[in-house]
Amino acid sequence: MATEYTLPPLPYAYDALEPVIDAATLRLHHDLHHAGYVKGANAAAQALKEARTSGDYKLVDHWTKKLAFHSSGHLLHALCWENMAPVGKGGAPSKDLEAALRAAFGTVEAMKAQLGATAKAVEGSGWGLLGYNPFDRSLTLLQCENHEKKAIWGVIPLLVVDVWEHAYYLKYQNKRGDYVDAWWSVVNWDDVSKRFAKARTLDSLR
Ligand code: MN
Repeated sequence: MATEYTLPPLPYAYDALEPVIDAATLRLHHDLHHAGYVKGANAAAQALKEARTSGDYKLVDHWTKKLAFHSSGHLLHALCWENMAPVGKGGAPSKDLEAALRAAFGTVEAMKAQLGATAKAVEGSGWGLLGYNPFDRSLTLLQCENHEKKAIWGVIPLLVVDVWEHAYYLKYQNKRGDYVDAWWSVVNWDDVSKRFAKARTLDSLR
C-alpha cells in the first residue's frame, strides 16, 4: 500500500491560540512549514517507489533518511495542533493520566518542570515530548532533535512542544524559554488524556 501524506487542516482558526501563539506565526507554521514536511515525505516515498521499480538503489540511503525526517515532521506537527487549544479550553489531565504522571514523575508539576527544561535545552531545532511506551509501560520525557533523532523505540508521543524557531519566531524572536513557559496555557489536556488512554490499550505488546 502506498502511503500518501496529506496536510490536515488546523482544528481551530489561526488566531485561536492568541495571545500565546500569534496568528501570523501559526499561519506560516501550518501552511508553509508543516506543508513542506508533507511534500517532503511524499517526495521521499515516491523516490523509493521508483527505486523499487528500476532496481536502482544508489540513493536509498538519502531517501530513507529524508523519509524519516519528513514523515516524522509531519506526524509531530499533526499531533502538536491537536495538543493545543485556546486558553482556558484545554481541560485538565484525566484521573488516569494524573495518577500515571504522579507515579512516573512524583507530581504533575515535576513533569511539567522537566519537560519545559528538556524542551528549552534542545540543541538547535527539535521537540520536547511526553510519550508512553507500551513495551515497558512507562511514561517518558524525551528530547528530540530535528524531528526524529534521540527517539526511544516504542514510545508513542502524547504531548509535544515544537521548539524549532519557526514555532515562535515572530512573537518571541529568540526567546524560546518565554515561549515554552507560555505554551503550557494552550495545552489541550483532554486530547493528551485521550491519547494516553488509547496508548494504554497497546500494553499487551509487551
Ligand atoms: Mn514546527
